[in-house]
Amino acid sequence: MSGSDAAPPRRSHGRLKPVVSVTPRDLMDGRKQLAGAWCAKVVTLMPEVFPGVLGASLTGRALDQGLWALDAIDLRTFGEGKHRNVDDTPAGGGAGMVLRADVIARALAVAQAAAPGPDRWPLVYLSPRGRPFDQAMARRFAACEGITLVCGRFEGLDERAIEHFAMEEVSIGDFVMTGGEIAAQAVIDACVRLIPGVLGNAQSTEEESFSAGLLEHPQYTRPATWQGRAIPEVLLSGNHGAIARWRREQAEALTKARRPDLWAALAREGDDG
Ligand code: SAH
Repeated sequence: MSGSDAAPPRRSHGRLKPVVSVTPRDLMDGRKQLAGAWCAKVVTLMPEVFPGVLGASLTGRALDQGLWALDAIDLRTFGEGKHRNVDDTPAGGGAGMVLRADVIARALAVAQAAAPGPDRWPLVYLSPRGRPFDQAMARRFAACEGITLVCGRFEGLDERAIEHFAMEEVSIGDFVMTGGEIAAQAVIDACVRLIPGVLGNAQSTEEESFSAGLLEHPQYTRPATWQGRAIPEVLLSGNHGAIARWRREQAEALTKARRPDLWAALAREGDDG
């Protein structure tokens, strides 16, 4: 690091669809989301970190092509008073600050103004207390018309806002981050790559980890031998049946060893079916 005090360079999104940091007035004026495109609305105190990593590579190209759309909605805009306060001290005492229910409500009134019901447009609060995010959830979200993601900061949201809006609480893992923005980007990435046309090869989402309840088999590419290690012979045999069998065995062995929970779920499914 240079250690300089200068503000970090701001990445220009010139080529990309710009992050739309909407104000209430913009939305009242009737801004419309792209017709037909899956849309992620993110309520955040840090709209400048979007699209972030989503603006690069496959998700970035898809954003550019209008295969999906992003609205980063600045929660600060909906704050109280001259200083646009969004938080206050926790009732009952304790460390940190809590995001105010009335401020969240004003942001959601705008974000959800034209949104259909939760079965077609889920309203998600990223939270370590939430249901663990998984591939099935990504498929469900990606099949909707869009999603609204609320990013917490500090100690999180006033519980009444979560209840009032019947937010679906979703966690990206059993650890605590300082805010929901990275979690929101993780969720959006997993959804966007499922949108038809985003990945080059449609098969790649059918055969990858979790799609059949298994972890993926190991992958290899050239050179054929590296550091004295050869690519497993069967993969070079051209025998597609044998290759499929080998991959299945490998996927099962990996899943058994690393994810006994997934393996047990698969066994139960087998019993039920
Ligand atoms: N006091 C809260 C944690 C707040 S962390 C608690 O103990 O449950 C601040 C914000 O970061 C949260 O509101 C949430 O939006 C986000 N966050 C932190 N860890 C997360 C995780 N594992 N998954 C999803 N969001 C998370």
